Amino acid sequence: MDDGAVRQIKERLDIVDVIGDYVRLHKTGKNFRGLCPFHQEKTPSFFVSPDRQTFHCFGCGEGGDIFSFVMKIEGLEFKEALDFLAQRAGIPLPTYSMGGKVDKSKPSLYDIMERALSFFRASLKDVAAGRLARQYLVSRQITPDAATLFEIGWAPSSWDSLWSKLQEEKVPFKEALDSGLVLEGRKKPYDRFRGRIMFPIRDVSGRLLAFGGRIIDGDGAKYINSPEGILYSKRQNLYLLYQAKQSIREKNRSILVEGYMDAIRLHLCGYTETVASLGTSLTEDQARLLKRFSNRCFICYDSDTAGIEATVRSMYVLQQNGVDVRVVELPKGKDPDDLLSQEEGKKLFQRSLDKALPLVLFHLTLRRTQLEQEETRRSAADDLLRGIAQLSPIDVAPYLPRISAVLGILPHELQEELDEIRSRNVQGNKEGQDRDSSFPIEKEKSIQKNEEIEPLEAALIYCLWNDSSLRQKIHPHDIFPLVESLPAKEVLAAVFSGHSPERLEEHWRDMGEDMPFSILAMGGAFCESFGEDQDSWEAVSSALERKRNEQKFQALHKKMLKGEATKEELALYWGIAKKLKKR
Ligand SMILES: [Zn+2]
Repeated sequence: MDDGAVRQIKERLDIVDVIGDYVRLHKTGKNFRGLCPFHQEKTPSFFVSPDRQTFHCFGCGEGGDIFSFVMKIEGLEFKEALDFLAQRAGIPLPTYSMGGKVDKSKPSLYDIMERALSFFRASLKDVAAGRLARQYLVSRQITPDAATLFEIGWAPSSWDSLWSKLQEEKVPFKEALDSGLVLEGRKKPYDRFRGRIMFPIRDVSGRLLAFGGRIIDGDGAKYINSPEGILYSKRQNLYLLYQAKQSIREKNRSILVEGYMDAIRLHLCGYTETVASLGTSLTEDQARLLKRFSNRCFICYDSDTAGIEATVRSMYVLQQNGVDVRVVELPKGKDPDDLLSQEEGKKLFQRSLDKALPLVLFHLTLRRTQLEQEETRRSAADDLLRGIAQLSPIDVAPYLPRISAVLGILPHELQEELDEIRSRNVQGNKEGQDRDSSFPIEKEKSIQKNEEIEPLEAALIYCLWNDSSLRQKIHPHDIFPLVESLPAKEVLAAVFSGHSPERLEEHWRDMGEDMPFSILAMGGAFCESFGEDQDSWEAVSSALERKRNEQKFQALHKKMLKGEATKEELALYWGIAKKLKKR
């Protein structure tokens, strides 16, 4: 029986799709490539083959098929992995308990959650019991079709309607308690969710972990969620990610909102790349989860000032994790659900989306008033600089002139100030690491220390490597002077040699040359924070050009001070000064 199921699962599921839920994969030739989830690395050596339906990591040697991948990454036994993948493929299998032992008499926790969901959905449709809930949904412009699509349900107002139902289905009390749906009362168990509209929360692979409930009958908090426990951890999940992930991959962006209704409304209006954080603070886990599918995120929280202030930190968490953050500002006093429910709402929302600001500019705008007032100026500037210094220089480079203008200092002074904060941060981290010396730090082997390659150089090469139209458009003479390290120059020359990237890759592999791969990987990692290649090319090449100009400027400046500069050099000096100022 298992053999049949294994074959069926392999037929229905694509390994690229399954692994893509955990690893951000890029197409390289026939295969896909990404950072290995099983060992720490900065250079992607993890390959997935759609033809063979296998994966292999050249770094740590892990490899296998879809089953071994799921077992390893989810920490499952074979039977559990089978169950997990069968559920995903929509193939019915006997249920296995959470503990890993096959036990057909007891339902799994996921199973109990699904049974509860069926009950909530049936209650919503029940002519008498669900009337109040249906009226509420109509008032919020949620049609019956939409309720079906998002599996919205209704937890009746009585104390034990769900628990009675679960008892009928022979669910033991212990399991019901573990599911978080039932609570232990003084006399008897009772339902956690009563008189609430129910929103199911699934994890990235579609398993039902929790519910959120909005009260419409009785007393209590407006929203409550399933408790943190065996199944659910709020820090590690995003509402509607399971439904949105395909769309996020295709559109190469996610939209992040706060609540259930906002997320559902956006999906209904065609923004199917939307997920909700269920609160304004975002964790690193959630940031990494989003980044698996796209490195661009539009944050669209409520427009009240207190809400926005609280979210700046979340935005930096995302950007630090390599996600390019844009902040969508809605008209005053509106949340996405309000806005999109009104006439012309979609047009207004799209306009806000088009005007979304990069994080750095958003932060600058947010602090503008405080920066203009004498008493608040210093603290506002500090706050801004502390935030910006957390980001990679490449993320900040395009905005330096703007920021320095607002702060009233010269760009290179701003650069120095940022460098100083950065080095203080690094120092702080180092001290932290020294104290905890048991923590092993993995060293990158592939790039040797004596060959210093700048990430910007690598990024420049990576952009050209990736885009044949760019290679044709750009003249090598304009680019070569920007690249200084010898290995980078060699790779750049190869890229411009006229051979296809596939051909070069083959050649390097045959010759056993690692360096080009390391450089490309380094550049790729650097470019990750940009959406389209075109954008990264603009940013990378101008940042590098600027850097070279600044270096030249410094060198000439020294010469000038010593009185050693020639007339030509002086002219060059003023020329560069003018260029640097103009940006
Ligand atoms: Zn590995």
